This record gives sequence, structure tokens and C-alpha cells, in this order.
Amino acid sequence: MPSTGEASKRDPAEATLGSEDPAADPALAVRGLTKRYGDTVALDEVDLAIDGGEFVAVVGPSGCGKSTLLRVLTGLEERFEGRAAVDGVDVRDGGSDAVGMVFQEPRLLAWADVRENIAVGLPADVDPDDPAARDRVDGLIETVGLDGFAESRPGELSGGMAQRVSLARGLAYEPEVLLLDEPFSALDQLTKYEQQDNLLDVWRERGATVALVTHDVEEAAYLADRVVVLGGQPGTVETVVDVEADRPRERTDEALLAARREITDALGV
Ligand code: ADP
Repeated sequence: MPSTGEASKRDPAEATLGSEDPAADPALAVRGLTKRYGDTVALDEVDLAIDGGEFVAVVGPSGCGKSTLLRVLTGLEERFEGRAAVDGVDVRDGGSDAVGMVFQEPRLLAWADVRENIAVGLPADVDPDDPAARDRVDGLIETVGLDGFAESRPGELSGGMAQRVSLARGLAYEPEVLLLDEPFSALDQLTKYEQQDNLLDVWRERGATVALVTHDVEEAAYLADRVVVLGGQPGTVETVVDVEADRPRERTDEALLAARREITDALGV
């Protein structure tokens, strides 16, 4: 589709609910999701559907429930109201098996080298010393551009390299769905740009479905097909913005600028 220079804003109820056709189950589906922590309502009746292979960013101010949404989808939260499913399987019934997670902090094991840190992400029933598993880890080291660093420990890596190890660990599971919680927020601008492009390469090569939480509007517009704007406390979906820029994208594309305007308007900033 040619770049129109326009971002289109959709009615959230229409844009987030996905198809009614059960054969067309979205990769990620959240319906009527309400999550409480004691008296705090973190999310209130949130609906969201993400199709297979789609890249969706979730933006919103601090405290609007972005991380909570990801935690529910990974199966880290068991107590919530509504439905959350991955590939049509409720997360409470093991749907989360298809999910890989990357956090803001790389959370690497200081005493382990890059290879061992990535192997932590292998499925529990895979022996990391098995030749096939070693090949898988070697492939991931190459995918994230860390050739030659397999034996390095986290203390010997830059912030950007550590974040790449974290991404490779999230991919070790061969997830169909990758959930990322502010993975680049601690990086300097140039490293951040490099890592964003690296993520786009991985997404394209793997055909994975990606949901990325970020507070960075520029990042959301550059990376995502659709940007879900959460707002309020408790968090609700304010709007959904389609980013209609061709890929590979230029950071200065008019369509990205239009999308950024739509998002910041919705955020009220
Ligand atoms: P965001 O990621 O958008 O900053 P969070 O999902 O972290 O927002 O938090 C949403 C709301 O839920 C906030 O009011 C936060 O204080 C509350 N919250 C999150 N996790 C917990 C927890 N484990 N216990 C109590 N309250 C929590």
C-alpha cells in the first residue's frame, strides 16, 4: 500500500475486538479483561485482538496497565476477569507456551556467558548440551548479531549487546508470539535505533506476532502496524491508530509523523 501520509484512527471498540469468525482466531485475543490488585483496578474491560504476524505497540502513561496486560498474556497473572488467549488457547490453559518475553532490564546471569544466558530461554525439556540445542543457540547468536561473543560474560558487554542477549533468550523458545516490555528504554538513542531495526529484522525473518509496550511514541509509530493507546487509571483503550507507512520505513516518512500526531493527541500531550 502506498504511503498516504495519513494515519487512520479507528473506533476502539471496532478496532480491538477482532473477527467474530471462530476459524480466524487472532494470535492474541483479550476480551473484557479486568485486572485488580486489591482495591486498585489496573485494567478495566480491555479488548484487544492481534493477528498472526502483526506488530502491535501499546503506549500509554505510567500506571495505565501496560505491563499488567503483558503479564496476563504471558500467564504470569492467573487472577483476572475476562478472557486472554494465545492462538485460541486460554492463557490459564497453557496458551502462554507459545509466548516469549523480553523485559526492560536484560536480567542476565552475571556468572554465565552469552551462550548460557540464551540457553536459559530454551524449553524446559530441551538439554542445552544437546547438539541440536547448541545449533539453535548459535543460530540465535548470529540472528542478533553477536557472533564472536558466545563466551563473553554480561560484564564484558555494552548495554545494547546485553539487550540483544535478552532478545535472543526470548526467541530461544521459538515463540510464535513475542511480548516486549519497554526493551529499549534504557538505551542511548543510536543504540536504540540499531536495536529497533534488529527487532524488525527478527520479526520479518521469523514471521512472529509482536506486542511491544513502550512509552516512546516515535518508537511505536516506527515499529508497529497498529498502535493501541491505553489511558487512564484504571487503564482502558483510548484509541487504536493504524500506521500506514510502507516497509522498510524511513524514520522521516510523513505517514509516521501523522501517526505520531494521532497518538500524542490521544495521549493528551
Ligand atoms: P504501566 O506498565 O502502564 O506503568 P502497570 O501495569 O505496571 O502500569 O500498573 C498498573 C496499575 O496497577 C498501577 O496503578 C500499579 O500501581 C498497579 N500494580 C501493578 N502491579 C501491581 C502489584 N503487583 N501490586 C499492586 N499493584 C500493582
